[in-house]
Amino acid sequence: MGEFELIQRFFTRPTPRAVLGVGDDCALLQPAPGMQMAISTDMLVAGRHFFPDTDPRRLGHKALAVNLSDLAACGARPVALTLALALPMADAAWLEPFSQGLLALADEHGCELIGGDTTQGPLNICITVFGEVPAGQALLQKRPATQALLRGGARAGDDIYVSGTLGDACLALQALLGHIQLPHAVLAAARQRLEQPTPRVALGLALRGVASAAADISDGLLGDLGHILQRSGVGATLDTSVAIHLLASNAYFTRASGQFDSSPSVESRISAQEALRCVLAGGDDYELVFCAPPAQRAAVQAASQTSATPVTRIGQIDSAPGLRLVDAQGASVLANQFTSFDHFNPINRSSP
Ligand code: ADP
Ligand code: MG
Repeated sequence: MGEFELIQRFFTRPTPRAVLGVGDDCALLQPAPGMQMAISTDMLVAGRHFFPDTDPRRLGHKALAVNLSDLAACGARPVALTLALALPMADAAWLEPFSQGLLALADEHGCELIGGDTTQGPLNICITVFGEVPAGQALLQKRPATQALLRGGARAGDDIYVSGTLGDACLALQALLGHIQLPHAVLAAARQRLEQPTPRVALGLALRGVASAAADISDGLLGDLGHILQRSGVGATLDTSVAIHLLASNAYFTRASGQFDSSPSVESRISAQEALRCVLAGGDDYELVFCAPPAQRAAVQAASQTSATPVTRIGQIDSAPGLRLVDAQGASVLANQFTSFDHFNPINRSSP
């Protein structure tokens, strides 16, 4: 199978929304009146972001999901994507499920595959997504004229929320790397979170005009919330006793001892500290972290309901810079023991 047969067979689809899809030198998109294009690119590198033998269907899903998650964080509606692929070889048995996983998620979000590039090389998947979001008025100086959710809008006194669950993808990765042991059912559920994350597109759309700032959690809560704080020029206090419950696998811990409960098949060495580290600093969950003034609490609940996405309030924005972690009694918990993922930090060089 040659390059063009491959593109034709697996990646050429009808594109009713685009003016022109796959096949020419460029694809053509017509932005709807009054709308802006939100554009984001994410690359997945074999051995860096995923195990080379990852199920191709799940990989196709994830490659698009991490990109849609960026659109969700901006409150943008997905419109189209391009796919740049480096493949070791043209293997139909791999390409078939990969394209199916990717295109099923694309269809779910009405996101059309309009072009890309295909080359031989070490497995590498780079997707660019295009979304649309209403233009806004530049009422405030130095604020971009958009209704997109941005990182820079958090203000002192705002509540901080996280969608869904956090930390289970990290727990699964630790187990797959052999660092920890998880009971079979816990690993299966956590692995689903790692390999098939759910981009929170509907929540992002529902939060337009409600949230003051938002980001998606790809590298860990503390790191990604840190980006909001930095862009907004504020600080924050997080309640770790609330945050720990974001870990779906937490149901398997006994709160008192911080160890797994005594289900007979379980031999576990996971401490409450490790669980909290996964929640605060584990990456790959692709949930949203967002801020909103307390006056918007009912509106946040409404957005959660219309998008059928649970949200949890985990802290608030302070005017004093820095990120403070407290326990249920309000006592300080050391933050510097939880470091979010950074590709160029030497301690992260060996995963997965
Ligand atoms: P060019 O050489 O002009 O970059 P190519 O010959 O690489 O174009 O690609 C031919 C057409 O196929 C283009 O429209 C391109 O967007 C599309 N295409 C290439 N690879 C992919 C892919 N993996 N998925 C979708 N479309 C692709
Ligand atoms: Mg090309």
